[in-house]
Amino acid sequence: MKRPTILVLGAGYGGLTTIVNLQKLINTHEAEIILVNKNDYHYETTWLHEVGAGTISPDKARYPISKVINDNVTFVIANVENIDVNKKKVETSAGEFTYDYLVIGLGFEGETFGIPGLKEHALSLTNINTARQVREHIEYQFASWILDEVKDDSKLTIVVGGAGFTGIEFLGELGNRIPELCREFDIPQEKVRLLCVEAAPTVLPGFDPELVDYAQEQLRKKGVEFSIGTPIVEATAEGVKIKKDEGNTEFIKAGTVVWAAGVRGNALIESSGIESNRARIAVHEDMRAPGFDDVFIVGDCAFLLNEETGRPYPPTAQIAMQQGVIIAKNIKHIMNDEPTEGFVYDDKGAVCSLGQEDAIGTAFGRKFTGKPASALKKVVDDRALYLVGGVGLTLKKGKFKFI
Ligand SMILES: Cc1cc2nc3c(=O)[nH]c(=O)nc-3n(C[C@H](O)[C@H](O)[C@H](O)COP(=O)(O)OP(=O)(O)OC[C@H]3O[C@@H](n4cnc5c(N)ncnc54)[C@H](O)[C@@H]3O)c2cc1C
Repeated sequence: MKRPTILVLGAGYGGLTTIVNLQKLINTHEAEIILVNKNDYHYETTWLHEVGAGTISPDKARYPISKVINDNVTFVIANVENIDVNKKKVETSAGEFTYDYLVIGLGFEGETFGIPGLKEHALSLTNINTARQVREHIEYQFASWILDEVKDDSKLTIVVGGAGFTGIEFLGELGNRIPELCREFDIPQEKVRLLCVEAAPTVLPGFDPELVDYAQEQLRKKGVEFSIGTPIVEATAEGVKIKKDEGNTEFIKAGTVVWAAGVRGNALIESSGIESNRARIAVHEDMRAPGFDDVFIVGDCAFLLNEETGRPYPPTAQIAMQQGVIIAKNIKHIMNDEPTEGFVYDDKGAVCSLGQEDAIGTAFGRKFTGKPASALKKVVDDRALYLVGGVGLTLKKGKFKFI
């Protein structure tokens, strides 16, 4: 009898966790396991704010996928170009694939909510290359300011759109990096402006208000200004227009605009033949797509309601990894004619960094701030490495400067 083919698309947190669990559960006689990813490396998406600010190198935040897969898996480096679940076909730059079980883990894209000019003029922290571009762009602005005969200080203004997790973590890193850059480029630090613009009335929605106050205070000390409840309504090559009270607008001239306010699923989902909303698929609790029992969705492409709160689970690495474990188990269950398991979220808490030595977080039913929270964040980062690549990968790529 022909072995079934398990095709996994994307080697992010969700896809790679699915793969490392599948390779433990299923041997080559039982099924052919194929992983397709556009790069030969996995990058730690949760470290992209550090790459973007330049506090770690892009290489620190990535590792070769070959280091964590074994001979049970065929790894194809290719760009997925089209998914058709009705024909059970996936087109890629390396040819066409068919499958018996499909796992879609192609991650997120920035959501610009149709705001004019953002797509064209704002940078983003979406993958390792866009994060590298942010870093290079900021350095270029600093390098060219010093050469300009007539100085335009707006070159040194950095606007971050969004005061959610990504925006706040990025601003925290910039708080560390800007003084270094100013020393490197001989620029007086008071010339640099760091501005966080948020449409919602609060910073870090969902976080404990006491921790949010702490975060804002610490970032202010690092020179961050906040403009809250003031949506960006347009971006141009020169900066952003924000809406203030009573419909008034203000134009902020800025050399760098980084959009960090909202994500949607991968656009390929929208033409796959499965119903979706903002490219996210409302999955059954065993992580299968509605109407397609052979298709699983993992990570930021999946939409799942938390029955307890009535609200959707947020798109996080923690959740993507837990879903990957369940999907691998469920594929094995189906192959054994056993019932599948439902996804049950094991909430380990959340930690938001505020730079290299500061953070806020909740874990073990307690609140943390400052260095203890920052140490916790590094433990979280190291744990993610350990779960995918064991001790070897953790020792090679982990963060061990705890104090
Ligand atoms: C700056 C930042 C900080 C964050 N901090 C945290 C945090 O502290 N904690 C937390 O839990 N979450 C955090 N998140 C959210 C978290 O990173 C995401 O929820 C998580 O990465 C989702 O995992 P995923 O597997 O769905 O997608 P990803 O990890 O994004 O992986 C998608 C994979 O698919 C590949 N791919 C995409 N398109 C194609 C294609 N067409 N062909 C082939 N391959 C393709 C990509 O190369 C990538 O390898 C953060 C996100 C950002 C941006």
